Amino acid sequence: MLPLVYHENYSYPFPEDHRFVMSKFRRLYTVLKESGICSLNEHNIYTPQTASIDELSIAHDPSYLTSLVGNEVCPKAWRRVGLPWSKALIERTLSAPNGTMLTAKLATQHGIACHLAGGTHHAHKDYGSGFCIVNDLAYTALSLLRQGQAKRVLIFDCDVHQGDGTASILSNEDDAYTCSIHCEKNFPFRKTESDIDIGLPLYMEDDDYLEVVDNTLERLLYQLSPDIVLYDAGVDVWEHDALGKLNISWKGIEQRDQLVLKKCLEHGVPVATVIGGGYDKDHDRLARRHAIVVEQAHKIVN
Ligand SMILES: [Zn+2]
Repeated sequence: MLPLVYHENYSYPFPEDHRFVMSKFRRLYTVLKESGICSLNEHNIYTPQTASIDELSIAHDPSYLTSLVGNEVCPKAWRRVGLPWSKALIERTLSAPNGTMLTAKLATQHGIACHLAGGTHHAHKDYGSGFCIVNDLAYTALSLLRQGQAKRVLIFDCDVHQGDGTASILSNEDDAYTCSIHCEKNFPFRKTESDIDIGLPLYMEDDDYLEVVDNTLERLLYQLSPDIVLYDAGVDVWEHDALGKLNISWKGIEQRDQLVLKKCLEHGVPVATVIGGGYDKDHDRLARRHAIVVEQAHKIVN
């Protein structure tokens, strides 16, 4: 069965009308239980351990992490995150990066594994931004490399927003290759250079989009021969996403996720997925949208 990584602390009591839908992780888990992708006895569910400040310091400034935990980040810097500080927020922030790390380890054993969170790609070394506090992608890539579990990691980021934090943290790391395919005229308006950035025009549609994703991934897998792909399957590319600005249909997202996963496996490269961004006032519809990548992975595995 497809390995899924989830922690019950991912969703916690949070203002329901906030633009960031904190309940989406629990809702996603429920959707996957109802469809049977998450088995009833939960034997394909894996739970991450909380990361220590020491562990996270591989990707972040320890003084930033300490001030984060103690609610001592200066108010101006904290406003960039856009989330109210709470102990529960910090608990999930310290679990989720190890969730992506655990997903990567499971992917190397099983071919594909899915994290029901992750993709906090706007978090920089010493500050958070855009609902992102700690960068799970950079943390996982660096941990895999330092622990000798991979010699080369490809981060394939298809969230509609550019992966500026990941690019910045990994800028001097030759063995962690960053690729961001995003809408150019969207947040963050000041981009940080990834190894490859593809800024798409406003309101691009399925056929053109899928061609870019397909060609770019094919080329990277061929050129880099990575040991693992960390795939940010952000669903904010959707045509009705509240923060999107691309015109990708629901079907188009399914096709994208299927082609990415299949292509990685065809090249013999394990792939770990994270859910990335997605914004919708209809919270159940948002959870079903985040389920797309897991459904596609489930189809391929079975
Ligand atoms: Zn996004």
